[in-house]
Amino acid sequence: MEAYTEIREAVAKLCAGFPGPYWRALDREMAYPTAFVTALTESGYLSVLIPEDYGGSGLPLSAAAAILEEVQRAGCNGGACHAQMYTMGTLLRHGSEAQKAAYLPAVAEGRLRLQAFGVTEPSSGTDTGSLKTTARRDGDHYVINGQKIWTSRAEHSDLMLLLARTTPRTEGMKRTDGLSVLLVDMREAVGHGLTIRPIRTMMNHATTEVFFDNLRVPADNLIGEEGKGFRYILSGMNAERILIAAECVGDAKWFIDRARTYAVDRSVFGRPIGANQGVQFPIAKAYANMRAAELMVREALSLYESGTNPGAEANMAKMLAADASFEAANACIQTHGGFGFAEEYDIERKFRETRLYQVAPISTNLILAYLSEHVLGLPRAY
Ligand SMILES: Cc1cc2nc3c(=O)[nH]c(=O)nc-3n(C[C@H](O)[C@H](O)[C@H](O)COP(=O)(O)OP(=O)(O)OC[C@H]3O[C@@H](n4cnc5c(N)ncnc54)[C@H](O)[C@@H]3O)c2cc1C
Repeated sequence: MEAYTEIREAVAKLCAGFPGPYWRALDREMAYPTAFVTALTESGYLSVLIPEDYGGSGLPLSAAAAILEEVQRAGCNGGACHAQMYTMGTLLRHGSEAQKAAYLPAVAEGRLRLQAFGVTEPSSGTDTGSLKTTARRDGDHYVINGQKIWTSRAEHSDLMLLLARTTPRTEGMKRTDGLSVLLVDMREAVGHGLTIRPIRTMMNHATTEVFFDNLRVPADNLIGEEGKGFRYILSGMNAERILIAAECVGDAKWFIDRARTYAVDRSVFGRPIGANQGVQFPIAKAYANMRAAELMVREALSLYESGTNPGAEANMAKMLAADASFEAANACIQTHGGFGFAEEYDIERKFRETRLYQVAPISTNLILAYLSEHVLGLPRAY
């Protein structure tokens, strides 16, 4: 698999322009990293997966993974914009020619942002099949009613990919049937049936809850066939998991590097703290786990790029990498002693940021349930 050395170096160079103080200031205000996202967009990194015919670079998923890993490895936060990489895939794979021509070149140029993904709802949680937001056909429109939660970046995106129920659930019907994907143009919708409310979280993530009150969306914005939306969303989830896993590997590398440097530099009792096994072993263990997770990310990428849909590997990569990044975060904060808690070291910020990936976009338990059922043949647990 290609290493994308040049892309990695160029991303690292770009990220060097957004050092710790930039992120700390935003973190304090819970503000969106507009300058960083603009720089990534203008350099074409967020459109590497868009085919050349639509103005992107037409690179494979491993290029996107390399970019996001480097972003995290540099101490930046790709969570501000990573969704464009995977939401766009749903449009690319299942959208009509007219939809692709209408949106993808503008997304590639950076004139349109496709950063919001509305799936999770407050009452259904991980059980997507029981979501309650409805899209009722009315002439040449759909009328949307309901609520989504954790719709990240909604305030900083022009478009939202929305999953809603178009056919009411009836007895005997598969719970994930009757759901459809719509592309919502939020520029026109806010104030006309769409309300966005920010949710403050333990890290700066620009996440929101959104309310739909008779929002009218043109029927032309339906992606693919009505009622098959769950399948379209699922088809993009492996890519999403692999990319988040790559980000976690980047985080783990950042934490390990910081921990190693500090363990060498900091002297207590007349010698570097890193000379103590109690300090060096957790860092060494975090390193080994990061490398193992990295191998699983590569395996998932190589299967994905060979045309299979590697559900097991994508899930394992996401789980192992999220565990590796959190273990590295923990070792890093411990290595720094009290300074690990000081804002100016950036460790506590990155610690909070990487904790998310134990829960989103899919929690560890659900990954284990997937492996139990689909790989090990154990009874379905839910
Ligand atoms: C900051 C942030 C950003 C997010 N961004 C987005 C976004 O942009 N778009 C979007 O659609 N969603 C987004 N999400 C939602 C995210 O995907 C969900 O939070 C996640 O999938 C878990 O769902 P839930 O919060 O409803 O938890 P629940 O489904 O309520 O689960 C709660 C806990 O119970 C466990 N659990 C539930 N069922 C089982 C079971 N059967 N067996 C064992 N354990 C179980 C889970 O593992 C979890 O730990 C985001 C979430 C956060 C926090």
